[in-house]
Amino acid sequence: MTLGEYYRKNIPSKRDPRSSEELQWLLEELLHLEKGTLFLHEDMNVSHVVELFDQYWNKLKKVPIQYIFNYQMFLNHRLTVNKDVLIPRQETEELTLLAIQKIQEIGAKSVLDIGTGSGAIIISILLACKDVEGHASDISYPALRVAMKNAKAYNLSCEFELADVYDGLTGKKFDFIISNPPYIARFDYVEKRVKKNEPHIALYAKNSGLEVYEKIIKNLEDHLNKNGYLYLEIDEARKEEITYFTKKYLKNSKISFAKDMSGHLRFCFIQLL
Ligand code: GLN
Repeated sequence: MTLGEYYRKNIPSKRDPRSSEELQWLLEELLHLEKGTLFLHEDMNVSHVVELFDQYWNKLKKVPIQYIFNYQMFLNHRLTVNKDVLIPRQETEELTLLAIQKIQEIGAKSVLDIGTGSGAIIISILLACKDVEGHASDISYPALRVAMKNAKAYNLSCEFELADVYDGLTGKKFDFIISNPPYIARFDYVEKRVKKNEPHIALYAKNSGLEVYEKIIKNLEDHLNKNGYLYLEIDEARKEEITYFTKKYLKNSKISFAKDMSGHLRFCFIQLL
């Protein structure tokens, strides 16, 4: 059997939790091929390794590939991940790119990433904006260890804080704050493979998924400098409540929203005036 035949035979259906990107990644990894070069080797005879391929491919029904090979690419940066952190998503790459643009536009000097997880957001910001002072917090110590390891791999200096939102940051203010907090409600549908593998502390929030947004917005004025921005990743279903929190807790602010590339309302921007 050729590599191309194996690939085509196993392209997952819509209902399969696995994706064809994972199939490509798996085969490239097992054959030690450079990323993205699988189809240059379509004619390779793989008959002798089909069993190994099958073993791994079956495993991926239950475990995302990122937790098997322990990394995820994020804006072209290779980041270590394990089951202590959420696998950084494509939407978050979009949010991070928008943030980098804004940070450069307003000349922000200090940035805080709340609920940093693997550190994907703050690390990408620091790599793109050399004169920014980076801070990141997370409520989970095992997650912070992953973030610190990733920052170290890129030789970045960043202050990591074991904290629930702003705890431990008393008196500290920033020019820009960003967060992709946990926002899933207990009653929301979550894909089985996600629910079984990714850390629940990174997925779920109390109060119908609103708890962390409320904490972030409630004390925003104590931690965000005037004219600074808060960039949030959100779920469309949380839009009204987030707007309500902004009115309730912030004296002078401007709120706006944007869609992600798949057309879902996904980003929220709050500026303190
Ligand atoms: N900030 C990290 C990410 O976006 C982790 C988010 C989380 O754990 N909720 O990938």
